[in-house]
Amino acid sequence: MKCIKCNSVKVVKNGSKFGTPYLKCKECNAQFCESSRNSETAQQFAVVLYCVGLSLRTIGALLEYSNVAILNWVRDFAKVHYHKPIPKGDIVLELDEMWHFIEQKKQSVDLESVLSHNWTTY
Ligand SMILES: [Zn+2]
Repeated sequence: MKCIKCNSVKVVKNGSKFGTPYLKCKECNAQFCESSRNSETAQQFAVVLYCVGLSLRTIGALLEYSNVAILNWVRDFAKVHYHKPIPKGDIVLELDEMWHFIEQKKQSVDLESVLSHNWTTY
């Protein structure tokens, strides 16, 4: 057996948790269980399934991990592989809730003057 962090072969048993045996690396003191070895493959598969369109809970149920773990894997993948886009030019905001509020309001609102106003949003 090899360590999942440093690939050292100096790995010893380190107790168990809920019946799952845990291992400890004598080189870097990393603790891990046997299922941690497959987690990298599971992480990549989870990201692929997320990109296909499955929900976090569905992926978690398929791979037998929590949905929060799947979310963290997808976020980590996105942080490494994608840059957050910087907004350029004018920013357009759609205030959907306001439109519903105006439509439901009993008082009459002059929508023509609202629409004809030259809105600029920064
Ligand atoms: Zn190690």
